[in-house]
Amino acid sequence: MNRHYDFIVLGSGIAGLSFALQAARHGSVAVLTKKNSAESNTNYAQGGIASVVSPSDNLESHVKDTLETGAGLCHEDVVRRVVGEGPHVVQELIDFGVEFSRGESGDFDLGREGGHSARRVLHAGDFTGRVIEQALLASVKAHPNIQILEHHFAVDLLTSRKLGIEENQPNRCLGAYVLDTVNRRVETFTSGVTVLATGGAGKVYLYTSNPDIATGDGLAMAWRAGAKVANLEFVQFHPTCLYHPKAKSFLLSEALRGEGGILRLKSGETFMERYDPRKELAPRDIVARAIDYELKKRGEDYVLLDMTHIPPEYLRERFPNICAKLLEFGYDLCREPVPVVPAAHYMCGGVVVNERAETSLKNLFACGEVTFTGLHGGNRLASNSLLEAVVYADMAAKHAPERLADAAAPSVDIPAWNPGDASDSDEAVVIKQNWDEIRHFMWNYVGIVRTNKRLLRAKKRIELLKEEIKEYYWNSVVTSDLLELRNIACVAELIILSALWRKESRGLHYNLDFPSPAELYRRDTILEP
Ligand SMILES: Cc1cc2nc3c(=O)[nH]c(=O)nc-3n(C[C@H](O)[C@H](O)[C@H](O)COP(=O)(O)OP(=O)(O)OC[C@H]3O[C@@H](n4cnc5c(N)ncnc54)[C@H](O)[C@@H]3O)c2cc1C
Repeated sequence: MNRHYDFIVLGSGIAGLSFALQAARHGSVAVLTKKNSAESNTNYAQGGIASVVSPSDNLESHVKDTLETGAGLCHEDVVRRVVGEGPHVVQELIDFGVEFSRGESGDFDLGREGGHSARRVLHAGDFTGRVIEQALLASVKAHPNIQILEHHFAVDLLTSRKLGIEENQPNRCLGAYVLDTVNRRVETFTSGVTVLATGGAGKVYLYTSNPDIATGDGLAMAWRAGAKVANLEFVQFHPTCLYHPKAKSFLLSEALRGEGGILRLKSGETFMERYDPRKELAPRDIVARAIDYELKKRGEDYVLLDMTHIPPEYLRERFPNICAKLLEFGYDLCREPVPVVPAAHYMCGGVVVNERAETSLKNLFACGEVTFTGLHGGNRLASNSLLEAVVYADMAAKHAPERLADAAAPSVDIPAWNPGDASDSDEAVVIKQNWDEIRHFMWNYVGIVRTNKRLLRAKKRIELLKEEIKEYYWNSVVTSDLLELRNIACVAELIILSALWRKESRGLHYNLDFPSPAELYRRDTILEP
């Protein structure tokens, strides 16, 4: 039995929830999310959301900072539109109950982050993402037109082409097959419009600041369904994540270096002075590259972040959460240097959408980190991503209802999921082994510093693994682990192909064989299935 809604939204982060709240005025909405509804990258955002809200700031300067960071690849029209929508987006979030921190005067307490020429980052303490997520979720749960379905894992998009129908019409999206991970059943969801809001793909890499949900599912599903993707080689790495077997993804904020933190090798020696006169305060990509170089050269696993020269009382007052969390892992930031590694943090590329948030597949919209909009170019300006997610969610909600009129039900019944003959899943060890393999070679060969040789090695390995995964995917009962492995493998291959195409170094893509930018490559890396 199909379950039908006007709008199906895949993902319950800032993008999916913002879309749902706007679209619910026009029809029924189901928000499907693969774990608990709050589990998203959004929930972990620390810094805040960038917007021009102070009289001492101006839109032109936010545009300029975004363009400069983007290394020549931003689409200026998109930058102007997104930045221009900032104040409206902030008001919209406030209307949904988000309380941003304010100073004693009652004005917003604005933070300043790398690459911004003014204080323009609105935040809610250092839990901005959680505050946004909770406020939006509360509004969604209270809305009569929205149903939120947790533990519903989208497996694949339903398309007319795959179903072999409407041969003379353009390929269109009709919904999704979805695994109910509690009842272990794959159900069919059909919709007038489907919206991808599945977030990023940090889990493709060994070290990441992203939570476990970030396995690139939306990107992989869109690709398999026939949608265009772009600029996947531009992966942003955060220089300092805690290195600890139990701290899968604990970020040590840039503000620690801002307050005088020193990076050291295991031997205690400093190294940043060899890379940039600004040392620890050089831009994120330079610091991440320097750490990566030192680790690879020495075969070591981590460097140290040393704050022990700063008065302990100040550290505890300025970074209460970081100090407390580190103590849980057995480190006293005030007394000892803490082991850190760079970690995959943000995907600048994604599924290509136009200014209406439409993908190249009819009736499939997308918003949030899963997309490529043209805003970030070759590098993301800090705190522009939450802003982009809401702007594109709003665009999608404005234009998706127009699609309902021509989203007639298909002329044939949509077949139920075919579970095949499989009665069992593959051994967990096989999935774990393949997953580990991918994350390791992506880190070592397709990470912060790349070379042609490393990329070609990664390509060979992913081709082999994809074949293996394909073979047992169709002979196994689907589980979320298997689905994530399949998606990670797909995204890894797309990143490798994009990185091989770009024979230059620009923004976040750094290849030792082509160390400078080349005019010929001042364009997006578009991949078409
Ligand atoms: C530690 C950290 C700090 C950050 N700090 C900032 C910051 O200060 N400012 C800023 O602008 N950005 C920041 N970012 C980036 C920003 O948080 C993300 O880009 C943004 O939250 C993405 O929102 P989203 O709605 O697109 O995706 P997410 O918030 O990641 O939501 C994705 C949703 O999709 C669901 N999902 C995924 N796959 C499936 C599937 N197959 N089926 C069903 N559901 C699925 C997930 O469960 C989740 O609910 C930070 C990111 C991290 C990790």
